[in-house]
Amino acid sequence: MIEDKNQERTSLEKLGEFGLIEHLTKNFSLQHQSTETGVGDDAAVLDFKTKKTLLSTDLLIEGVHFDLSYVPLKHLGYKAVVVNLSDIFAMNATATHITVSIAASNRFPLEALNELYEGIALACKKYKIDLVGGDTTSSTKGLLISITALGEANPSNITYRNGAKPNDLLVVSGDLGGAYMGLQILEREKEVYKVNPNSQPDLEPYSYIIERQLKPEARNDIAELLKILKVTPTAMIDISDGLSSEILHLCKNSKVGCNLYENKIPLDPTVISACEEFKIDSTMVALSGGEDYELLFTVDQQDFEKIKGNPNLSIIGHMTDSAEGAHLITRGNSKIPLTAQGWNSFKSE
Ligand code: ADP
Ligand code: MG
Repeated sequence: MIEDKNQERTSLEKLGEFGLIEHLTKNFSLQHQSTETGVGDDAAVLDFKTKKTLLSTDLLIEGVHFDLSYVPLKHLGYKAVVVNLSDIFAMNATATHITVSIAASNRFPLEALNELYEGIALACKKYKIDLVGGDTTSSTKGLLISITALGEANPSNITYRNGAKPNDLLVVSGDLGGAYMGLQILEREKEVYKVNPNSQPDLEPYSYIIERQLKPEARNDIAELLKILKVTPTAMIDISDGLSSEILHLCKNSKVGCNLYENKIPLDPTVISACEEFKIDSTMVALSGGEDYELLFTVDQQDFEKIKGNPNLSIIGHMTDSAEGAHLITRGNSKIPLTAQGWNSFKSE
């Protein structure tokens, strides 16, 4: 579907490893005081002074985590950064630095890596992140990207998965299921394209959910919002694998149960109509879809008035004693045990 618009193909061999690193990193500027030395020495040197340092890493493999037949490289670079930052934000921390390691086969010319780094640079600019290192090597097949994100936080602000108490309210930012339904649209169009490469699909009605899949954003605004509302979350996690499995993580780590109310799950109208079109249950999509990168957190019940009615936040349930287990309370008022059907990277093909 996405044609190689770049006719020019500069082979990576021509630049050599050091030329390539310099070329890819030359347009990044450093913004954080904590960065003493960035790219160019044997190691970066950072100084977080009295703050704690947070660190999180992800590895993305072509064919497993992304499909370049419908994911533009610029979007891939952007998303690869964003999903890492989301993990830092899920600790109620500020993201500050990344390292980017790539392995590319000879199928990828310099122009392709330029596009990838354009997306990485865009994310660094938007989220005010310093690129301070990485590694560059070749692969025998496909593209691999590993990003490590660092962040800082005052020790007392860090929010773990294990702080939820019975009766705490369960809150989620934004809306759910969009990224999964966006992927369904892209997969469908890929199949159409295989049969008829000249087809011109009208993707406009789906633009919101396609963007949720291809260009997700990480919620760096929620920590700020909670500060303004004077709410300290008791536990927090980001939604990478689907609401259901993330709730179960909070329950397990905090040793609590949970009642989740089906009618409270926030869904965008585009998600609802796409679910009708694909004849999939929208609640299942929100529970198991994944890749929404919204934040899921718990707050003390006393904070109800502060959270209530906020357009960025939905109260979707409450925590219980662990003996009660984790359940979905359906619209019809039945109580169904939640299972982790979040996307499983080890599922059989
Ligand atoms: P070494 O041989 O010591 O691993 P490299 O030549 O791989 O050093 O890297 C030189 C510098 O460039 C280091 O600061 C490293 O962190 C940085 N670097 C290497 N590859 C990348 C990349 N893909 N993106 C950003 N920085 C990189
Ligand atoms: Mg190296």
